[in-house]
Amino acid sequence: MTEQMTKPIHVIRNIETIVAFDPQTGGHAYLSDGDIAFDEASILHVGGHYDGPFEREEHGKDKMLLPGLVNIHCHSDEEPLSKGIFDDMGTPALWGQAMYEYSTLVEISEEAREASLTIMLGDLIRSGVTTLVDIAGPHDKWLPTLVKSGARAYAAPGFREARWHVEDSRRLDYHWDSAKGREAFARALACVDEAEAHPSTRLGGILAPSQVETCSPELLTEAMAAARSRNIPITLHAAQTMAEHEELLRRTGLTAVQYLDRLGILNERLILGHCIFLDSHSWTRQRTEIDMQLLARGGTTVAHCPVTFSRSGMILESIGKYRRNGINVGIGTDTYPYNMLEEMRRALICSRIAGKSVHDIKTADIFEMATLGGAKALGRTDIGRIAVGAKADFSLIDLNHSAMQPVYDPLRNLLHCAAERAVQAVYVDGQCIARDGKLLGLDYDGAVHVMRDALVFAKERIPANDPRRRSLSELAPLSLPSN
Ligand SMILES: [Zn+2]
Repeated sequence: MTEQMTKPIHVIRNIETIVAFDPQTGGHAYLSDGDIAFDEASILHVGGHYDGPFEREEHGKDKMLLPGLVNIHCHSDEEPLSKGIFDDMGTPALWGQAMYEYSTLVEISEEAREASLTIMLGDLIRSGVTTLVDIAGPHDKWLPTLVKSGARAYAAPGFREARWHVEDSRRLDYHWDSAKGREAFARALACVDEAEAHPSTRLGGILAPSQVETCSPELLTEAMAAARSRNIPITLHAAQTMAEHEELLRRTGLTAVQYLDRLGILNERLILGHCIFLDSHSWTRQRTEIDMQLLARGGTTVAHCPVTFSRSGMILESIGKYRRNGINVGIGTDTYPYNMLEEMRRALICSRIAGKSVHDIKTADIFEMATLGGAKALGRTDIGRIAVGAKADFSLIDLNHSAMQPVYDPLRNLLHCAAERAVQAVYVDGQCIARDGKLLGLDYDGAVHVMRDALVFAKERIPANDPRRRSLSELAPLSLPSN
């Protein structure tokens, strides 16, 4: 054995359409009938004929090759288990949000955590995601399962000093326990350091103070300093609900964005989920347009996750406008159904509704957010693009799939019609991690079984977790009468 082992080179020939990075425009462009060559380290050749050496060869006829999608905001924990429970619920006094009174009642058993994570990873990968940021509570199976999935993953352990408490379905209170929050911060730092030092180069760490209003200004400032010293990103929920918006106004007289600016932490390292209720939003009462300028000036990224918010009747006004104001935007799925392509479709539709125009945003803009926008948020130029030297993270789309046919513009067909049905194979670091809807590194079907038991446990625990001790059927009657 020689010391310098050559890595096996894989070539895919005559791909009908490659969505390749164009250095001239800094965006993506279609390339027709070209080859791609790659090894586990990077992409070696894009477009035209590759006549170098190779160990493996396949044909790309009737396929589109897409850069891997970058999901900058999702949660495993109990979220995959919460599917279909409180979707029709919301607290009227809290602008119809279900998050504070209802969602927090769903509890996942320790044994089901790995399964829950597996469901999330599986659904994301099958929709073309190759990089993801999981904001969750640390547990023993977390990092090993992220690695086993084969995806590129950032573990973002959440921590906060205050917990939400809803009294009598009308008042949101904050129960502060600074010592506990500090302990969680210390655990998060250890977890992030473990992820960063992990032998898998696909694993990274991100600091995640949970919400702007559940962390003290001191903790937020310290977390930013810790992110700076480690040269890693930091993410935080801010301007995500009207309840939070009103709470911050009461405490500081400022919107979330203005408050973070005053703390001096609105910078290019920060990813904010979800930045909906800015001073310019029609539900707020500021009647100014300062927040967008502050976000753009700071270089802060907005993690846009329209599916879960639109399910609650809430909409960001509009993501096209954010982009036109110079704000970097990435896409996240937040919670179930963890379908990145459906999320992108919803982002496009919601933006056009909020912007009252088909011209508010184009398919190419959404695609750019879900690739280059996410990569920028993570400080990377080697993902979210198909280019020589970039990571070999991509998916192959079956242009012959009935949901894709007939094809005039393949990207539009994928986003508006076929979504994950046409995703044939997903590659990360040149390795195939999903093919024909099957995950190669994870036991998805086994996880589904575990989740059925986990739902039984969660249903039993709901009355004990509810301050008013209501049963699940009182809290969330079924969508149809049960005769
Ligand atoms: Zn979130």
